[in-house]
Amino acid sequence: MYTSLSQIQSDLKLGAISLTRLVKDYLYVINQKSSLNAFLEVYEKEALEHAIIVEEKFNSGKAGKLAGMVIGLKDNIVYKNHKVSASSKILEGFESLYSATVVERLIAEDAIIIGRLNCDEFAMGASNENSAFGPVKNAADETRVSGGSSGGAAVAVQAGMCLLSLGSDTGGSIRQPASFCGLYGFKPTYGYISRYGLIAYASSFDIIGPIAHSISDIQLVMEIIAGPDENDATATKNGLPSFIENTELAQGPKKFAYIKETLEADGIEPDVKTQTESFIADLLAMGHQVESISFDLLPVLIPIYYTLTTAEASSNLSRFAGMHYGFRSKNAFDLESTIKKSRSEGFGPEVKRRIMLGTFVLSSGYYDAYYSKAQKVRRLVKNKTEEIFQKFDFIISPTSPTTAFKIGEKSENPLAMYLADIFTVHANIAGNPALSIPYGKDRQGLPIGIQLMAPIGKDSELLNLAEFLVK
Ligand code: GLN
Repeated sequence: MYTSLSQIQSDLKLGAISLTRLVKDYLYVINQKSSLNAFLEVYEKEALEHAIIVEEKFNSGKAGKLAGMVIGLKDNIVYKNHKVSASSKILEGFESLYSATVVERLIAEDAIIIGRLNCDEFAMGASNENSAFGPVKNAADETRVSGGSSGGAAVAVQAGMCLLSLGSDTGGSIRQPASFCGLYGFKPTYGYISRYGLIAYASSFDIIGPIAHSISDIQLVMEIIAGPDENDATATKNGLPSFIENTELAQGPKKFAYIKETLEADGIEPDVKTQTESFIADLLAMGHQVESISFDLLPVLIPIYYTLTTAEASSNLSRFAGMHYGFRSKNAFDLESTIKKSRSEGFGPEVKRRIMLGTFVLSSGYYDAYYSKAQKVRRLVKNKTEEIFQKFDFIISPTSPTTAFKIGEKSENPLAMYLADIFTVHANIAGNPALSIPYGKDRQGLPIGIQLMAPIGKDSELLNLAEFLVK
């Protein structure tokens, strides 16, 4: 299995493989492993046609930087004239009229888009069990979840169905499935990538990012998709420093902090804890400094996250009303019943739970008690995080307190599922970049991920360091 674009490009140059063959091989694996349920749709014919065009360009030395990269898209990133559903019944039959900025930028550099990938409905979940199209199975053990919400995006790369995928991360949805599947998953600084064409969940948290086998592919894709975009007012206005490998950035000893409470948290699996400690020991052996710190706001991260994201979701999802596009209830007879019934029948239980929760925290009697308060505590978290980064270069934690759990194990208990996000939501609340690094396995052979979080805007430093750590 290819694990980086540089391997593919060198084989293409040598003539050891053709681009058409490569795409056919991916299509073969997709077909063979369809029981994993990673893809909702495969663009078979189109990907093969595209391969012929890119191949010609490659042979005449005119191809873009991503020639040979075969990519899957999470089903909440729109692609012109292609269906998109956010894994929800409510978008049944809907086709996008335009492409997300990230998709346009990838295609302009000759990447091939091979299909759209299963996820939790509207990116709400941590196991992919909230998809209207069924859970995605982890290729390391098919009785276990892929993680979520970008579960299809992680498993497609894990199982060799494409080289890289784009997911979205509102509270961990790129990093946690990447860690469950033994891959790198990167959540960039908030605003570094245009969200034009990303179906919104919680707009002050959402960001697009890549899942891949190698840091070099993540760097390359970031170089191409990150930066200003006139179609997204929340995207950075400034040109960004290069993301491409720069060993200078990674030179010299760095200062790492780990939050003591993350290793003492209830529910952290012993093997995850041991691996995190061994990662720390590796860093020390390499000459880095590692210190333990205390972060007393850890217990409020999940409550803030679920108060604010549900509030934003209740507003963002009000556009799905059975009126203009997507699913419309057959039992509706007037305006009000069209909206009510289409939403009741079209949304799944988790999405409804969040819309109701969000509507509640925004309602006039509770706004101050919940929504405003959570905003204030979010500010405290940001300030405290900045303070930590005045003294340290990176914060280490496990990506998730557990490895991939059994399908069905937590689906009846939303609170247990929410607690699985404990280490990842911090970066979204504060806006920082964070990377999940595959680091060993537990005693059942399931992958473990370590998360590194960096100061806002230090995405490049983070990726360079990670590249250096694994070398
Ligand atoms: N698991 C988190 C949630 O359920 C994160 C989702 C995400 O990042 N999109 O909201």
